[in-house]
Amino acid sequence: MKIIVTGGAGFIGSAVIRHILEHTSDHVVNYDRLTYAGNLDSIPQRLARLEDGNPGNCRYQFIKGDICDAELFTALINQFQPDIIMHLAAESHVDRSIDDPAVFVRTNVLGTCNLLECTRKYWRQLPINRQKTFRFLHVSTDEVFGDLDNNDDKFDEQTPYAPSSPYSSSKAGSDHLVRAWGRTYGLPVLITNCSNNYGPYQFPEKLIPHMILNALQGQPLPVYGDGRQIRDWLYVDDHAEALLSVAKHGMPGETYTIGGNSELTNIQVVKTICNLLNAKIQNKPANVEDFNDLITYVSDRPGHDKRYAIDASKIARTLDWRPQQSFESGIEQTIQWYLDNDQWWQRVVSGEYQLIRLGDR
Ligand code: NAD
Repeated sequence: MKIIVTGGAGFIGSAVIRHILEHTSDHVVNYDRLTYAGNLDSIPQRLARLEDGNPGNCRYQFIKGDICDAELFTALINQFQPDIIMHLAAESHVDRSIDDPAVFVRTNVLGTCNLLECTRKYWRQLPINRQKTFRFLHVSTDEVFGDLDNNDDKFDEQTPYAPSSPYSSSKAGSDHLVRAWGRTYGLPVLITNCSNNYGPYQFPEKLIPHMILNALQGQPLPVYGDGRQIRDWLYVDDHAEALLSVAKHGMPGETYTIGGNSELTNIQVVKTICNLLNAKIQNKPANVEDFNDLITYVSDRPGHDKRYAIDASKIARTLDWRPQQSFESGIEQTIQWYLDNDQWWQRVVSGEYQLIRLGDR
Protein backbone atom coordinates (compact mmCIF):
# COMPACT_ATOMS: atom_id res chain seq x y z
CA MET A 1 0.00 0.00 0.00
CA LYS A 2 1.00 3.63 -0.44
CA ILE A 3 0.50 5.79 2.62
CA ILE A 4 1.01 9.52 3.22
CA VAL A 5 1.58 10.50 6.85
CA THR A 6 1.23 14.22 7.59
CA GLY A 7 3.20 15.30 10.65
CA GLY A 8 5.47 12.27 10.33
CA ALA A 9 8.40 14.10 11.91
CA GLY A 10 6.42 14.58 15.13
CA PHE A 11 6.14 12.31 18.15
CA ILE A 12 3.24 10.07 17.09
CA GLY A 13 3.69 10.47 13.32
CA SER A 14 7.29 9.23 13.54
CA ALA A 15 6.13 6.23 15.62
CA VAL A 16 3.59 5.46 12.87
CA ILE A 17 6.29 5.66 10.19
CA ARG A 18 8.72 3.50 12.18
CA HIS A 19 5.90 0.98 12.64
CA ILE A 20 5.09 0.94 8.90
CA LEU A 21 8.73 0.51 7.91
CA GLU A 22 9.46 -2.15 10.53
CA HIS A 23 6.28 -4.22 10.35
CA THR A 24 4.78 -3.85 6.84
CA SER A 25 5.92 -3.68 3.21
CA ASP A 26 4.00 -0.42 2.62
CA HIS A 27 5.54 2.64 1.00
CA VAL A 28 5.29 5.84 3.00
CA VAL A 29 5.71 9.56 2.36
CA ASN A 30 6.27 11.80 5.37
CA TYR A 31 4.76 15.24 4.64
CA ASP A 32 5.78 17.67 7.37
CA ARG A 33 6.48 21.39 7.64
CA LEU A 34 9.17 20.83 10.29
CA THR A 35 7.95 23.28 12.89
CA TYR A 36 9.86 23.31 16.20
CA ALA A 37 8.10 19.96 16.96
CA GLY A 38 9.29 18.21 13.80
CA ASN A 39 12.49 16.21 14.14
CA LEU A 40 13.82 14.02 11.34
CA ASP A 41 16.21 12.36 13.82
CA SER A 42 13.11 10.44 14.98
CA ILE A 43 13.18 8.34 11.77
CA PRO A 44 16.48 6.44 12.14
CA GLN A 45 18.60 6.30 8.98
CA ARG A 46 18.56 2.49 8.95
CA LEU A 47 14.78 2.70 8.41
CA ALA A 48 14.72 5.79 6.21
CA ARG A 49 16.93 4.00 3.68
CA LEU A 50 14.91 0.74 3.55
CA GLU A 51 14.72 -0.58 0.01
CA ASP A 52 11.81 -2.63 -1.34
CA GLY A 53 14.01 -4.93 -3.42
CA ASN A 54 14.23 -2.63 -6.46
CA PRO A 55 17.57 -0.84 -6.53
CA GLY A 56 17.14 2.81 -5.63
CA ASN A 57 13.47 2.39 -4.76
CA CYS A 58 13.25 3.52 -1.16
CA ARG A 59 10.09 2.72 0.81
CA TYR A 60 10.35 6.02 2.67
CA GLN A 61 10.39 9.57 1.36
CA PHE A 62 10.33 12.90 3.17
CA ILE A 63 8.66 15.96 1.64
CA LYS A 64 8.95 19.23 3.50
CA GLY A 65 5.56 20.88 3.15
CA ASP A 66 2.80 22.77 4.91
CA ILE A 67 -0.68 21.26 5.15
CA CYS A 68 -1.98 24.72 4.22
CA ASP A 69 -0.15 24.54 0.87
CA ALA A 70 -2.78 23.24 -1.59
CA GLU A 71 -0.50 23.31 -4.62
CA LEU A 72 2.31 21.25 -3.11
CA PHE A 73 0.01 18.72 -1.44
CA THR A 74 -2.02 18.28 -4.64
CA ALA A 75 1.15 17.72 -6.66
CA LEU A 76 2.27 15.10 -4.12
CA ILE A 77 -0.97 13.10 -4.09
CA ASN A 78 -1.33 13.19 -7.86
CA GLN A 79 2.20 11.88 -8.27
CA PHE A 80 2.31 9.36 -5.37
CA GLN A 81 -1.30 8.10 -5.75
CA PRO A 82 -1.82 7.15 -2.08
CA ASP A 83 -4.24 4.46 -0.89
CA ILE A 84 -4.34 5.99 2.59
CA ILE A 85 -3.72 9.45 4.03
CA MET A 86 -3.04 9.50 7.78
CA HIS A 87 -3.37 13.08 9.01
CA LEU A 88 -1.36 13.80 12.17
CA ALA A 89 0.17 17.21 11.40
CA ALA A 90 -0.99 19.67 14.03
CA GLU A 91 0.01 22.21 16.60
CA SER A 92 -0.29 20.01 19.67
CA HIS A 93 0.83 21.75 22.86
CA VAL A 94 -1.92 23.15 25.12
CA ASP A 95 0.30 25.74 26.86
CA ARG A 96 1.44 27.15 23.51
CA SER A 97 -2.19 27.37 22.37
CA ILE A 98 -2.98 29.57 25.38
CA ASP A 99 -0.11 31.93 24.47
CA ASP A 100 -0.73 32.01 20.70
CA PRO A 101 -4.09 30.53 19.64
CA ALA A 102 -4.13 31.84 16.05
CA VAL A 103 -1.46 29.45 14.80
CA PHE A 104 -3.55 26.55 16.17
CA VAL A 105 -6.58 27.70 14.16
CA ARG A 106 -4.43 28.12 11.03
CA THR A 107 -2.82 24.69 11.17
CA ASN A 108 -5.43 22.55 12.86
CA VAL A 109 -8.59 24.01 11.31
CA LEU A 110 -7.57 25.66 8.03
CA GLY A 111 -4.81 23.12 7.33
CA THR A 112 -7.22 20.21 7.81
CA CYS A 113 -9.82 21.92 5.58
CA ASN A 114 -7.16 22.35 2.89
CA LEU A 115 -6.13 18.68 3.08
CA LEU A 116 -9.77 17.58 2.85
CA GLU A 117 -10.34 19.68 -0.27
CA CYS A 118 -7.15 18.47 -1.99
CA THR A 119 -8.00 14.89 -1.04
CA ARG A 120 -11.61 15.16 -2.22
CA LYS A 121 -10.49 16.36 -5.67
CA TYR A 122 -7.94 13.53 -5.92
CA TRP A 123 -10.38 10.90 -4.64
CA ARG A 124 -13.27 11.74 -6.96
CA GLN A 125 -11.14 11.21 -10.09
CA LEU A 126 -9.94 7.77 -8.94
CA PRO A 127 -11.46 4.68 -10.63
CA ILE A 128 -14.52 3.46 -8.70
CA ASN A 129 -12.75 0.40 -7.24
CA ARG A 130 -9.97 2.62 -5.83
CA GLN A 131 -12.48 5.21 -4.57
CA LYS A 132 -14.04 2.43 -2.51
CA THR A 133 -10.80 1.34 -0.85
CA PHE A 134 -9.23 4.79 -0.35
CA ARG A 135 -9.15 6.06 3.29
CA PHE A 136 -8.50 9.43 4.99
CA LEU A 137 -7.72 8.94 8.69
CA HIS A 138 -7.86 12.02 10.91
CA VAL A 139 -5.96 11.62 14.18
CA SER A 140 -7.47 13.56 17.06
CA THR A 141 -7.50 13.79 20.81
CA ASP A 142 -9.80 12.97 23.74
CA GLU A 143 -9.41 16.62 24.81
CA VAL A 144 -12.22 17.56 22.37
CA PHE A 145 -14.65 16.09 24.93
CA GLY A 146 -13.68 18.51 27.73
CA ASP A 147 -13.28 16.92 31.14
CA LEU A 148 -15.03 14.44 33.42
CA ASP A 149 -16.26 14.98 36.96
CA ASN A 150 -18.01 11.74 37.67
CA ASN A 151 -15.48 9.05 38.47
CA ASP A 152 -17.60 6.42 36.76
CA ASP A 153 -17.85 8.09 33.37
CA LYS A 154 -15.51 7.56 30.46
CA PHE A 155 -15.37 9.20 27.04
CA ASP A 156 -16.63 7.08 24.18
CA GLU A 157 -17.65 7.60 20.55
CA GLN A 158 -21.01 9.11 21.61
CA THR A 159 -19.62 11.70 24.05
CA PRO A 160 -20.65 15.27 23.07
CA TYR A 161 -17.89 17.75 22.28
CA ALA A 162 -17.03 20.37 24.96
CA PRO A 163 -13.42 21.48 24.40
CA SER A 164 -11.77 23.75 26.99
CA SER A 165 -8.53 25.07 25.46
CA PRO A 166 -7.64 26.77 22.17
CA TYR A 167 -5.80 23.52 21.28
CA SER A 168 -8.73 21.22 21.95
CA SER A 169 -11.26 23.56 20.32
CA SER A 170 -9.12 23.77 17.16
CA LYS A 171 -8.93 19.95 17.10
CA ALA A 172 -12.71 19.78 17.67
CA GLY A 173 -13.18 22.12 14.69
CA SER A 174 -11.03 19.87 12.53
CA ASP A 175 -12.98 16.75 13.63
CA HIS A 176 -16.25 18.44 12.58
CA LEU A 177 -14.80 19.34 9.18
CA VAL A 178 -13.65 15.76 8.60
CA ARG A 179 -17.08 14.36 9.51
CA ALA A 180 -18.76 16.89 7.22
CA TRP A 181 -16.54 15.91 4.26
CA GLY A 182 -17.56 12.30 4.86
CA ARG A 183 -21.25 13.13 5.11
CA THR A 184 -21.50 15.77 2.38
CA TYR A 185 -19.10 14.44 -0.24
CA GLY A 186 -18.91 10.76 0.64
CA LEU A 187 -15.14 10.93 1.25
CA PRO A 188 -14.17 7.72 3.13
CA VAL A 189 -13.00 9.34 6.38
CA LEU A 190 -12.23 7.85 9.78
CA ILE A 191 -11.56 9.70 13.05
CA THR A 192 -9.68 8.56 16.14
CA ASN A 193 -9.74 10.34 19.51
CA CYS A 194 -6.92 9.18 21.73
CA SER A 195 -5.73 9.81 25.27
CA ASN A 196 -2.28 11.12 26.33
CA ASN A 197 0.62 9.38 24.62
CA TYR A 198 4.08 8.81 26.05
CA GLY A 199 7.19 6.96 24.93
CA PRO A 200 10.49 7.42 23.09
CA TYR A 201 11.18 10.46 20.86
CA GLN A 202 8.68 12.79 22.60
CA PHE A 203 9.56 16.49 22.48
CA PRO A 204 10.73 17.60 25.94
CA GLU A 205 7.97 20.21 26.41
CA LYS A 206 5.46 17.41 27.22
CA LEU A 207 5.00 16.22 30.83
CA ILE A 208 6.90 12.93 30.90
CA PRO A 209 10.08 13.84 28.93
CA HIS A 210 10.09 17.28 30.60
CA MET A 211 10.21 15.64 34.03
CA ILE A 212 12.81 13.04 33.05
CA LEU A 213 15.17 15.58 31.50
CA ASN A 214 14.75 18.19 34.25
CA ALA A 215 15.45 15.52 36.86
CA LEU A 216 18.59 14.34 35.08
CA GLN A 217 19.83 17.94 35.15
CA GLY A 218 18.90 18.45 38.83
CA GLN A 219 16.30 21.08 37.91
CA PRO A 220 12.88 21.65 39.56
CA LEU A 221 9.99 19.41 38.44
CA PRO A 222 7.06 21.84 38.03
CA VAL A 223 3.64 20.30 38.71
CA TYR A 224 0.50 22.33 37.90
CA GLY A 225 -1.93 23.08 40.79
CA ASP A 226 -2.28 20.22 43.25
CA GLY A 227 -1.16 17.64 40.66
CA ARG A 228 -4.42 15.71 41.06
CA GLN A 229 -5.59 16.07 37.43
CA ILE A 230 -6.22 12.59 36.03
CA ARG A 231 -5.04 11.49 32.58
CA ASP A 232 -5.19 8.17 30.78
CA TRP A 233 -1.76 7.19 29.40
CA LEU A 234 -1.09 5.17 26.23
CA TYR A 235 2.31 3.96 25.05
CA VAL A 236 2.96 5.55 21.64
CA ASP A 237 3.77 2.28 19.81
CA ASP A 238 0.39 0.91 20.91
CA HIS A 239 -1.23 4.03 19.45
CA ALA A 240 0.69 3.62 16.17
CA GLU A 241 -0.59 0.06 15.87
CA ALA A 242 -4.16 1.18 16.58
CA LEU A 243 -3.95 3.90 13.92
CA LEU A 244 -2.71 1.47 11.26
CA SER A 245 -5.48 -0.92 12.19
CA VAL A 246 -8.18 1.77 11.93
CA ALA A 247 -6.75 3.11 8.64
CA LYS A 248 -6.66 -0.34 7.03
CA HIS A 249 -9.61 -2.15 8.59
CA GLY A 250 -11.87 0.51 10.15
CA MET A 251 -15.30 1.37 8.77
CA PRO A 252 -15.43 4.64 6.79
CA GLY A 253 -17.52 7.28 8.54
CA GLU A 254 -16.79 5.78 11.97
CA THR A 255 -15.02 7.22 14.99
CA TYR A 256 -12.84 5.18 17.36
CA THR A 257 -11.83 6.26 20.87
CA ILE A 258 -8.43 4.87 21.86
CA GLY A 259 -6.94 4.68 25.35
CA GLY A 260 -4.44 2.87 27.51
CA ASN A 261 -6.70 1.92 30.42
CA SER A 262 -4.12 3.60 32.68
CA GLU A 263 -5.67 6.45 34.64
CA LEU A 264 -3.20 8.25 36.85
CA THR A 265 -2.95 11.65 38.52
CA ASN A 266 -0.15 13.88 37.25
CA ILE A 267 1.57 13.71 40.62
CA GLN A 268 1.49 9.89 40.53
CA VAL A 269 3.20 10.02 37.13
CA VAL A 270 5.90 12.41 38.36
CA LYS A 271 6.55 10.39 41.53
CA THR A 272 6.79 7.18 39.50
CA ILE A 273 9.44 8.82 37.32
CA CYS A 274 11.35 10.06 40.39
CA ASN A 275 11.29 6.64 42.05
CA LEU A 276 12.46 4.85 38.90
CA LEU A 277 15.26 7.37 38.44
CA ASN A 278 16.26 6.96 42.11
CA ALA A 279 16.63 3.23 41.45
CA LYS A 280 18.39 3.56 38.09
CA ILE A 281 20.84 6.43 38.54
CA GLN A 282 24.04 5.86 40.52
CA ASN A 283 25.59 9.28 39.93
CA LYS A 284 22.83 11.73 40.70
CA PRO A 285 23.33 15.48 40.09
CA ALA A 286 25.23 17.08 43.01
CA ASN A 287 22.12 18.84 44.41
CA VAL A 288 19.96 15.67 44.42
CA GLU A 289 19.61 12.96 47.04
CA ASP A 290 16.06 11.91 46.14
CA PHE A 291 14.54 13.05 42.81
CA ASN A 292 11.17 13.52 44.60
CA ASP A 293 12.71 16.53 46.39
CA LEU A 294 12.81 18.38 43.05
CA ILE A 295 8.97 18.38 42.78
CA THR A 296 7.69 21.98 42.86
CA TYR A 297 4.00 22.92 42.72
CA VAL A 298 3.27 25.87 40.39
CA SER A 299 0.05 27.82 39.68
CA ASP A 300 -2.45 25.82 37.70
CA ARG A 301 -2.90 26.16 33.92
CA PRO A 302 -5.99 28.31 33.10
CA GLY A 303 -8.99 26.13 32.17
CA HIS A 304 -7.10 22.97 33.20
CA ASP A 305 -9.27 19.88 32.64
CA LYS A 306 -9.71 17.66 35.72
CA ARG A 307 -10.03 14.18 34.34
CA TYR A 308 -9.89 12.34 31.03
CA ALA A 309 -10.72 8.66 30.69
CA ILE A 310 -11.40 6.54 27.63
CA ASP A 311 -13.72 3.65 26.94
CA ALA A 312 -11.85 1.82 24.14
CA SER A 313 -14.23 -1.13 23.95
CA LYS A 314 -15.37 -0.39 20.36
CA ILE A 315 -11.89 -0.69 18.85
CA ALA A 316 -11.25 -3.79 20.99
CA ARG A 317 -14.50 -5.39 19.84
CA THR A 318 -14.43 -4.46 16.16
CA LEU A 319 -10.72 -4.40 15.33
CA ASP A 320 -9.35 -6.61 18.10
CA TRP A 321 -6.94 -3.89 19.24
CA ARG A 322 -5.86 -3.64 22.87
CA PRO A 323 -2.87 -1.84 24.40
CA GLN A 324 0.03 -4.25 24.86
CA GLN A 325 2.05 -2.13 27.25
CA SER A 326 1.09 -1.51 30.89
CA PHE A 327 2.02 1.91 32.27
CA GLU A 328 4.52 0.28 34.65
CA SER A 329 6.53 -1.33 31.87
CA GLY A 330 5.97 1.51 29.36
CA ILE A 331 7.28 4.20 31.69
CA GLU A 332 10.27 2.04 32.65
CA GLN A 333 11.14 1.54 28.95
CA THR A 334 10.60 5.23 28.23
CA ILE A 335 12.96 6.34 31.01
CA GLN A 336 15.54 3.78 29.87
CA TRP A 337 15.21 5.09 26.29
CA TYR A 338 15.95 8.66 27.40
CA LEU A 339 18.93 7.39 29.42
CA ASP A 340 20.27 5.40 26.44
CA ASN A 341 19.57 8.06 23.79
CA ASP A 342 20.99 11.24 25.25
CA GLN A 343 22.31 12.10 21.76
CA TRP A 344 18.72 12.44 20.52
CA TRP A 345 17.52 14.73 23.28
CA GLN A 346 20.79 16.68 23.62
CA ARG A 347 20.35 17.69 19.95
CA VAL A 348 16.78 18.81 20.76
CA VAL A 349 17.78 20.73 23.88
CA SER A 350 20.66 22.48 22.04
CA GLY A 351 18.49 23.21 18.97
CA GLU A 352 20.93 21.28 16.74
CA TYR A 353 18.13 19.00 15.49
CA GLN A 354 16.83 21.91 13.44
CA LEU A 355 20.08 22.23 11.48
CA ILE A 356 19.26 19.04 9.59
CA ARG A 357 16.71 21.14 7.72
CA LEU A 358 19.47 22.73 5.67
CA GLY A 359 19.74 19.46 3.82
CA ASP A 360 16.30 17.99 4.68
CA ARG A 361 16.56 14.31 4.07
P1 NAD B 1 3.80 16.80 17.58
O1 NAD B 1 3.64 18.23 17.98
O2 NAD B 1 4.88 16.00 18.20
O3 NAD B 1 4.03 16.72 15.99
C1 NAD B 1 3.30 17.50 15.08
C2 NAD B 1 4.00 17.43 13.74
O4 NAD B 1 3.23 18.19 12.81
C3 NAD B 1 5.41 18.04 13.75
O5 NAD B 1 6.31 17.18 13.09
C4 NAD B 1 5.24 19.35 13.00
O6 NAD B 1 6.42 19.73 12.29
C5 NAD B 1 4.10 19.01 12.06
N1 NAD B 1 3.35 20.21 11.63
C6 NAD B 1 2.87 21.22 12.42
N2 NAD B 1 2.26 22.14 11.66
C7 NAD B 1 2.33 21.69 10.38
C8 NAD B 1 1.87 22.22 9.14
N3 NAD B 1 1.22 23.39 9.06
N4 NAD B 1 2.10 21.50 8.01
C9 NAD B 1 2.77 20.31 8.05
N5 NAD B 1 3.25 19.79 9.21
C10 NAD B 1 3.03 20.48 10.35
O7 NAD B 1 2.37 16.13 17.79
P2 NAD B 1 2.04 14.64 18.24
O8 NAD B 1 2.07 14.58 19.71
O9 NAD B 1 2.83 13.70 17.44
O10 NAD B 1 0.51 14.56 17.80
C11 NAD B 1 0.15 14.13 16.49
C12 NAD B 1 -1.35 14.20 16.33
O11 NAD B 1 -1.96 13.37 17.30
C13 NAD B 1 -1.92 15.60 16.55
O12 NAD B 1 -2.94 15.81 15.62
C14 NAD B 1 -2.47 15.56 17.95
O13 NAD B 1 -3.57 16.43 18.08
C15 NAD B 1 -2.90 14.12 18.07
N6 NAD B 1 -2.85 13.55 19.43
C16 NAD B 1 -1.75 13.68 20.22
C17 NAD B 1 -1.74 13.11 21.49
C18 NAD B 1 -0.52 13.18 22.39
O14 NAD B 1 -0.58 12.76 23.54
N7 NAD B 1 0.62 13.66 21.92
C19 NAD B 1 -2.86 12.40 21.95
C20 NAD B 1 -3.97 12.28 21.10
C21 NAD B 1 -3.95 12.85 19.85
